[in-house]
Amino acid sequence: MTIKKVRASKPFLSKDFPSNDIATVVYFTKCNGTCVGCCNEKLRNDVEEFKEFDERELFRHIANFSERKQITHVVISGGEPLHPDNIDVCRALLKILFYYGYKIIIYTGYEITHLIENHITHFHVAKCGKYDETLSQVVIKDDYEMRLPSSNQDFYNSNYQKISNNGILKFKERKDESNN
Ligand code: SF4
Repeated sequence: MTIKKVRASKPFLSKDFPSNDIATVVYFTKCNGTCVGCCNEKLRNDVEEFKEFDERELFRHIANFSERKQITHVVISGGEPLHPDNIDVCRALLKILFYYGYKIIIYTGYEITHLIENHITHFHVAKCGKYDETLSQVVIKDDYEMRLPSSNQDFYNSNYQKISNNGILKFKERKDESNN
């Protein structure tokens, strides 16, 4: 049996988890999306300077970095982690990360129905939906909320239920400044 491999970036620190936790992020290369105004143009192609990994190698890559930085949250992004050439490794990687207790968000341009149909499980949050330039909004990530680049995109929980509105997820209540 051929072992599938994907190309992925080095792990970096990221604020892209919808909470106040710093996360480890890795970017998968390749994207079959067609978003006008793509924010990750370079990652749409197979970036040849990135190494190739199977799911176990990619897990070790993420876990070694996360242990050194004492991080428990992981962002899987791209490019497109659910590109047909990536989806099998991604599905298996999510299971390993989940088993080892990481909190995981996956960023994908696909709709949530695609995750359900393709048995993508073992994540805590999924950001779904293609960037739509006509619905663009100011991106915000602060201590209280996260706002996605376009209002048609949303966050979903592990039960595939939408947990944001118009791309805005409030994960901590703002103090009413008028009471201070
Ligand atoms: S899904 Fe992301 S990487 Fe792919 S075309 Fe859209 S913005 Fe670019």
